Amino acid sequence: MAIERTLSIIKPDAVAKNVIGQIYSRFEGAGLKVVAARMAHLSRAEAEGFYAVHKARPFFNDLVEFMISGPVMIQALEGENAIAKNRELMGATNPKEAAAGTIRADFAESIDANAVHGSDAAETAANEIAYFFPASQVFAR
Ligand code: UDP
Repeated sequence: MAIERTLSIIKPDAVAKNVIGQIYSRFEGAGLKVVAARMAHLSRAEAEGFYAVHKARPFFNDLVEFMISGPVMIQALEGENAIAKNRELMGATNPKEAAAGTIRADFAESIDANAVHGSDAAETAANEIAYFFPASQVFAR
């Protein structure tokens, strides 16, 4: 299986709940390594740019408002099959549909305040990591 990198964001709801460490434990428990990390309070322009692919969706404005409502924790994760593995740890977009024991089932309240973001494919992962981290701030481990 290929070693991949993926972009993860712990969203404002989960940062406010003080569960950054619990979520990092799940990454580590699944064999994913943190290779870049920083906390940020995103500007509107940064959040709109990050979610540009969803610009035409009805939830776009609410999503941007939510993502700038407080600080987030942004990290790049590395490991075997990291993109799918992180999506598996996250659970379904709607926490009510997320499998028991997933991050969203355990820490998310609703489809819009759903605790975490994770890249969905190799190309988006590369673009999303580059969006937040210059190559010099990603550390091979
Ligand atoms: N979202 C929302 N309402 C919806 C669908 C999505 O607020 O009906 C938000 C939600 O925060 C989700 C994000 O938009 O995480 C991106 O949606 P996507 O379908 O890419 O879900 P994800 O990949 O995050 O599971």
